[in-house]
Amino acid sequence: MNMDNNKLIKLFEDILDSSLIVKGDDLKSRFYHIWKMDIPLESVCLLMPKTTNQVSEIIKICNNNNQEVIIHGGLTNLVGSTKSDKKQVVISLEKMNKIIEIDEISKTITCESGVILEDLINATKDKELLLPLNFGARGSAQIGGAISTNAGGLRVFKYGMTRNLVMGIEAVLPDGTIISSLKKLMKDNSGYDLKQFFIGSEGTLGIVTKVVLRLYPLPKTRYTSIAVTNNFEKVLDLLKNLEDKISNNLTGFELLWNSTYKQMVSEKTIYHKYLDDNFKYYLFVEFMGTDFENDYKKFEDTILECIENKIVDDAVIGKDEKEQLNIWGIREDVAVLADERKFDQQFDISIPVPLIGEVIDKISRELKECVGVKTIFPFGHVADGNIHFIIGKDTDSEELKSQINDIIYKNTELVEGSISAEHGIGLDKKKYLIKSRSEDEINFMRLIKKSIDPKNILNPGRVI
Ligand SMILES: Cc1cc2nc3c(=O)[nH]c(=O)nc-3n(C[C@H](O)[C@H](O)[C@H](O)COP(=O)(O)OP(=O)(O)OC[C@H]3O[C@@H](n4cnc5c(N)ncnc54)[C@H](O)[C@@H]3O)c2cc1C
Repeated sequence: MNMDNNKLIKLFEDILDSSLIVKGDDLKSRFYHIWKMDIPLESVCLLMPKTTNQVSEIIKICNNNNQEVIIHGGLTNLVGSTKSDKKQVVISLEKMNKIIEIDEISKTITCESGVILEDLINATKDKELLLPLNFGARGSAQIGGAISTNAGGLRVFKYGMTRNLVMGIEAVLPDGTIISSLKKLMKDNSGYDLKQFFIGSEGTLGIVTKVVLRLYPLPKTRYTSIAVTNNFEKVLDLLKNLEDKISNNLTGFELLWNSTYKQMVSEKTIYHKYLDDNFKYYLFVEFMGTDFENDYKKFEDTILECIENKIVDDAVIGKDEKEQLNIWGIREDVAVLADERKFDQQFDISIPVPLIGEVIDKISRELKECVGVKTIFPFGHVADGNIHFIIGKDTDSEELKSQINDIIYKNTELVEGSISAEHGIGLDKKKYLIKSRSEDEINFMRLIKKSIDPKNILNPGRVI
């Protein structure tokens, strides 16, 4: 039996100052997603602990009372995972936002989990260090959210997913136990690597409260090029050429299909159109290096050679900060694509790289046949085999939703791809997990969840 809400809130008031508890009508000012700020949050109350001990005390109360808890980070996930109902308590990590230490010798940053990703990127930059984790939602997403979703982004190709950057984690288990391993070690094979339980498990196994991340020397130069072609084979040729010539400097290789580029540079947006909008593929190449004198020429020569050898039809290079901002805005400001229609569905599938051209063409053809689909915007991290779709509609009908899901996931399954390359499963993709994972794998996930959270109080119903 759940405890009466007022009694429960009284118990929380013994732990947290009342200014850190949002309840009653004040919940109307809170929301479950940055793109759904007009929908008031449903919850018993929202708690904003400031310390790991407070998180632990709150969770103990919830566990003792079979109270379900939903964890809020920066609320930028794209799989419905931060939705809650009137019977659930929400814990937001937003007040746990301190950077504890930047260690310039070990090249690590230690911080609380509620720090906004962009604040971490800027703080490390000030110390001539690079945190390579970078994606469009960096101004709102928290590092705890990025760890819980094992976020990817624009530099996975060179530096790996979030998992590759995490050296240590402190987390609170669903019974309130604090598991703390904030070591700065590259190598530690002393038993199970416990931090892996919390990376990518979408808050179902613990609440991440602190973290140690690995940093890299800060590159001194950064250049970007947009190159165009009408042939997917040439997309792969360009990647191979760049890997042959500038592999150490190649930090990003992103692709926009024609419909997406056209929308991003239309008169509705603030973005400058550098190249005609009649090519099929628009490639965004990022170069970062340390040789201030020679890097630009090296990059320019490589791109020019690719044009001369007819690997791409044309290209431009963004040299200064302003141009780079415009170019990456075209790639990253995907809210423009979602805003085009009243309703949208978002996908982030993984497909073997050589098959991307034909699979996306096939999916796009099938979607066009689907009555009710108004816009189809494919784009993504092509070197990682990860393609996103934002599909716009004027209706929220469940039938249309399933029809679209079936087209995307059937085609993904056919090439042994994944239904989620980086956004995770949350609530929205649960039904389709079986298309990427075997029964045995899913049962093993259930076993892990059951042994760590036997009462199923933490982010219940997410993933499995
Ligand atoms: C414009 C835009 C671009 C994006 N681009 C990318 C991209 O390129 N790559 C990519 O991977 N994702 C991308 N995303 C998705 C999203 O930004 C990531 O999944 C991000 O990591 C979520 O972080 P968050 O802090 O917003 O977490 P939330 O959305 O708040 O939460 C995500 C999940 O993690 C859980 N959680 C949050 N904090 C904690 C914690 N401290 N401990 C335990 N569980 C927690 C939540 O309960 C939820 O299940 C994008 C989103 C947008 C809106």
